[in-house]
Amino acid sequence: MSKGRYESFNLATHVGDDLEDVTHNRSILEGMTAPLMFMNQVHGATVVVVEESVKHVLTADAMVTQEPGLALCVLVADCIPVLLWDDEASCVAVAHVGRKGLINGISGKTIAVMHELGASRIFAQFGPSICGKCYEVGEDVFEEVVTTYPQARGSRSKFDFTLDLPAALEFELVREGVEVYKSSVCTFESGSHFSYRRDGVTGRTAGVIWL
Ligand SMILES: [Zn+2]
Repeated sequence: MSKGRYESFNLATHVGDDLEDVTHNRSILEGMTAPLMFMNQVHGATVVVVEESVKHVLTADAMVTQEPGLALCVLVADCIPVLLWDDEASCVAVAHVGRKGLINGISGKTIAVMHELGASRIFAQFGPSICGKCYEVGEDVFEEVVTTYPQARGSRSKFDFTLDLPAALEFELVREGVEVYKSSVCTFESGSHFSYRRDGVTGRTAGVIWL
């Protein structure tokens, strides 16, 4: 329903879009999934275990549940929407991973919580995010990140200093025994995805997982 810069399936209420349109979009998504659970995402390291649908929005960057019928949502426009699951433990999770999230280890913390809940064979799907050719940073930030995460060194084909966050995150998760699947779509290059880096004021898409 969203128009203009938010056309057409913006799911975020905090980006300046018409709230009625966002509510309508969310109801369409809810009709395809289950009651939606969103987070107030702050690039932090807080993981919340969700046991029931609550009206207030939790401030966190990852959620884990074993409850059927709760659709966990992570909002993004360039960051990596990470969906995690373990079929045997009936456990699913979402995590919001950008540069800060990579550094503060939000995905590792999420996996630790899943392990506490009995998960042993965890799979991850990364949704569309900005790629290692397009995520330009300054030299100081580049050096800071690749010193700790060498796999984050992006391609120099377009810009001098770029970060490949999906590559670095994949390395971290595989090291924790997680089987990783990555989207090949770059939000910055895609004509059908929101990109904060490309457009500034824009919408958010969502990664959604539920039992
Ligand atoms: Zn790209």
